[in-house]
Amino acid sequence: MSYEQLQALGEAVGNQSRGLSDDLICYLVPFKNKCSFFSRKKNDEECVICKSTYKSRQKLIRLPCSHCYHADCITRWLKINKACPVCNEEDWTMDVASYLKLKGNHD
Ligand SMILES: [Zn+2]
Ligand SMILES: [Zn+2]
Repeated sequence: MSYEQLQALGEAVGNQSRGLSDDLICYLVPFKNKCSFFSRKKNDEECVICKSTYKSRQKLIRLPCSHCYHADCITRWLKINKACPVCNEEDWTMDVASYLKLKGNHD
């Protein structure tokens, strides 16, 4: 998906403030896909955002709700919509936000 398409999508959704802040997106650390990693869970084999399967050594991000996406796909998605594309879970962003706040207080 191009940036323009995503922007159009964001406008279609109608509320640009639904996106996740860069601070929170940074908190999601990508990991490298391994061949056998997803073999047991069928649902995790395809990224629902780009509709393609995970290849070995691609960068992936797993959300706290346990759904998994390409790192690039989910970071772009989260900038326009902070809810998980599969389960619509967005409560986890509150946990991450309070975690960051906590961390900030210790600096
Ligand atoms: Zn993808
Ligand atoms: Zn989810």
